[in-house]
Amino acid sequence: MTQFRPVSEEVLQQLESVVGVENLSSAESERRLRSHDMSHHAPHMAELVVWPRTARQVADVLRIANAALVPVTPWGAGSSLEGNPIPLFGGISLSFERMNRIVALHADDFQVTVQPGIGYKDLNAILARDGLFFAPDPGANASIGGMLANNAAGSRTVKYGATRDNVLATQVALADGRLIRTGSRSIKQSAGYDLTHLMIGSEGTLGVITEATLRLMPIATVMSGVLASFPTVAAAVEAVVAIRGSGLDVAALEFIDGPTAALISREEGVAWGERPILLMEVHATHAASAELDLALIEEICMALGVMAFRATTDSAERRQMWRARHHLFETLVRVFPGYKWQLMDIAVPISSLPALVDHVAQTLLNNELVGFVIGHAGDGNVHVTMPYNDEATRRRTAVANDTIVYKAIELGGTSTGEHGVGIGKAKFMSREHGAALDVMRTLKQALDPNGILNPGKIFSAE
Ligand SMILES: Cc1cc2nc3c(=O)[nH]c(=O)nc-3n(C[C@H](O)[C@H](O)[C@H](O)COP(=O)(O)OP(=O)(O)OC[C@H]3O[C@@H](n4cnc5c(N)ncnc54)[C@H](O)[C@@H]3O)c2cc1C
Repeated sequence: MTQFRPVSEEVLQQLESVVGVENLSSAESERRLRSHDMSHHAPHMAELVVWPRTARQVADVLRIANAALVPVTPWGAGSSLEGNPIPLFGGISLSFERMNRIVALHADDFQVTVQPGIGYKDLNAILARDGLFFAPDPGANASIGGMLANNAAGSRTVKYGATRDNVLATQVALADGRLIRTGSRSIKQSAGYDLTHLMIGSEGTLGVITEATLRLMPIATVMSGVLASFPTVAAAVEAVVAIRGSGLDVAALEFIDGPTAALISREEGVAWGERPILLMEVHATHAASAELDLALIEEICMALGVMAFRATTDSAERRQMWRARHHLFETLVRVFPGYKWQLMDIAVPISSLPALVDHVAQTLLNNELVGFVIGHAGDGNVHVTMPYNDEATRRRTAVANDTIVYKAIELGGTSTGEHGVGIGKAKFMSREHGAALDVMRTLKQALDPNGILNPGKIFSAE
């Protein structure tokens, strides 16, 4: 690995001449704020925070850093869960907080071009005026740049796809200071290598995204929320497979295990009971087609012994369901004050979901661990959240984590469905990708020969 150098006085002056003194800071408070994400990974501070305002500035910052062997780690909103934006080797934390504009809205084409620092929730609040939205919804107010870099997804991915499926074009600054455009605004594209999708999910290790053209969806006219409570985990998971297998195009299909449902009921004042739950959403153009979908969902759930079934088109009630679900992490932090968290994010083919969920339960039991199991079950993605507050429990959560990840890979799945590799999943890359990991290394070497872009991520810090 490259021997990085500290930010010298000369480099500082060059950077100041590019972005202006008001757009960089070595203040400890600024560096500390960007030294950690929302995960358990240890913090590490950059030497300098730089806030570029234009794509050209981003490219110039990279050119200067590359020549001086100073590492650069992009920063969006810091909501990652695998240490992805932690500047592990110091250097520059390149923050996109001041590049947060909509560049152009092409409402007739269902597209918008944005700078990377805009929050997806802020973007959607503006797009709603035109009846449109950017579908991937990671819950936290992530930036678009961070979502692209992690290939974030969410509860509506089952219908609308992950971030990768909703990006048409990007502008990217490369380590050597070149500024390139990838893709086009055409829905269909087959001109050459797909560099757009190479950049998505690359966690700022291949290039820095300075602009993105996103696909938008019309906001559905009819939205229904469904809550179904099952006697056992097996029945709930079987219902997930059956609903997907029926061809129903549900907009969300979330699994919440019994202990988590009980916690949410208690803390959020909802009557979800203590049994495993499926939380669903149906989007339709007409009330009649929504009703047909809801009837089929109910029929499937009844066949699998559902204990309570509630479907609603009342938007306040539907929003309350989602608020309770989306507050889960905050709720856990409140209920377990002072605890740290091992957050898992494995995904498998939908038919392997029952086997994975069984394995998770058995692993928690074997290791005497408390674990809250939820998942974007409609696309085979499971999250296990394990609290710990002492070294012995931390070790057991680490063992459980490894066991479950290896099982997901063995079942034909992946070590991370949406949170990205960051620091935490790097050790599984070889098992998951085999010889393809060498090809990834070759790509990294070609685009970033000095390894200045977000070092220590995706590939283990050697
Ligand atoms: C409560 C909670 C719930 C969550 N739920 C979900 C969920 O359901 N689904 C999901 O996918 N995620 C979820 N997340 C994780 C997180 O929100 C996503 O990973 C999100 O994409 C991170 O975006 P960010 O703007 O915070 O990026 P950051 O954390 O700041 O950075 C993420 C990565 O992107 C890189 N990066 C940032 N900007 C750029 C850029 N312009 N160019 C290149 N690289 C860049 C960083 O270096 C880093 O590697 C959740 C997080 C929390 C705290």
